[in-house]
Amino acid sequence: MILPADPKSGFLAHQSEVEEAVLRVLRSGWYILGKEVEGFEEAFAQYHGAGHAIGVGSGTDAIQIALRACNLSTGDRVATVSHTATATVAAIEMSGLIPVLVDIDPDTFTIDPDHLESLTKSDGGVKAVVVVHLYGQPAAMHDIQSLAKRYGLKIVEDCAQAQGAKIGDKAVGIWGDVSAFSFYPTKNLGALGDGGAVLTNNEDIGDRARLLREYGWVERYVSHFSGVNSRLDEIQAAILAVKLRHLDEENARRVELAKTYDEALTDTSLTLPSSVEGTDHVYHQYVVRAEDRDELQAYLGEREIGSLIHYPVPVHRQPAYTCLASGPEGLRNTDRVCQEILSLPMHPQLSKESLDVTISAILEWDRR
Ligand SMILES: *Cc1c(COP(=O)(O)O)cnc(C)c1O
Repeated sequence: MILPADPKSGFLAHQSEVEEAVLRVLRSGWYILGKEVEGFEEAFAQYHGAGHAIGVGSGTDAIQIALRACNLSTGDRVATVSHTATATVAAIEMSGLIPVLVDIDPDTFTIDPDHLESLTKSDGGVKAVVVVHLYGQPAAMHDIQSLAKRYGLKIVEDCAQAQGAKIGDKAVGIWGDVSAFSFYPTKNLGALGDGGAVLTNNEDIGDRARLLREYGWVERYVSHFSGVNSRLDEIQAAILAVKLRHLDEENARRVELAKTYDEALTDTSLTLPSSVEGTDHVYHQYVVRAEDRDELQAYLGEREIGSLIHYPVPVHRQPAYTCLASGPEGLRNTDRVCQEILSLPMHPQLSKESLDVTISAILEWDRR
């Protein structure tokens, strides 16, 4: 079976370093918010050229804490995309804010700045935008930044799928007011359990996020505002410090795999992922579009090649979220691409042999 993602092989690739780090924590006698978390936060902030990194319990929590640290008012509206992990929208609601859903650019799969502008113009309540760098593709941050300036929006970047992606020579995560990362095991920078981080260059936001993750305690046991319990633990931080040292080489491997797919599949009926000039896509997923997507997925499945759909049902079509606003013209691109997208096997340890088998099967299917 060729797996679409493979966190176990990600562990085995760095087994001795990871095991040594875990044992060090087990033997230290200190398991929550200690020097492993501090060390990882410092390395993670430095990697991005950011002033503050705050380790938290998950990516969903990171978005929630990032939003709450922006000091928005309960009931403010926050724009984001419907073509994303449900987590993005759930986190907005968990922060007491109201999601407003925006369409995507069908070529990049990221937020359409024109649609964001028309929604912001028609809805005076929109005070922030959560921009998702989906599949490892940086969103159009220059456009988003100028819109944010014009309409007074706070920008939160959801970098859960884009650790190490860049626009020019600046990593995603430092283009807005604050950003959120997930270290779910299959992400480009994955822990071996849950984890997340908030990143910012804004000292006030960083300070508030740090207090929010532990009950709003300024001194121990005394809350100065109501917070949550969302702490990155020492074991995951120690593992992440190891994985961070390998992030660039693993992202480079993803890019190499993507290039091989690109070259081999260029003359097929598939629409291949686009990459934007001047940005570094890190291919959390390699997502193609096929009119007969379900047939292609079944064909690959019969040959023991795993593929996934990210995501089969857009947020605004999920029963829990059908009531969310999304503008009068709807989310046409979101609705269309959901029918056609397929994520092919993509992870740094994917072998050349597995890649070749996958490519041959797709070429065969395309000639059928
Ligand atoms: C994974 C993911 C999240 C949520 O992260 P968790 O760590 O699973 O809570 C949020 N947004 C996006 C785009 C994701 O891919």
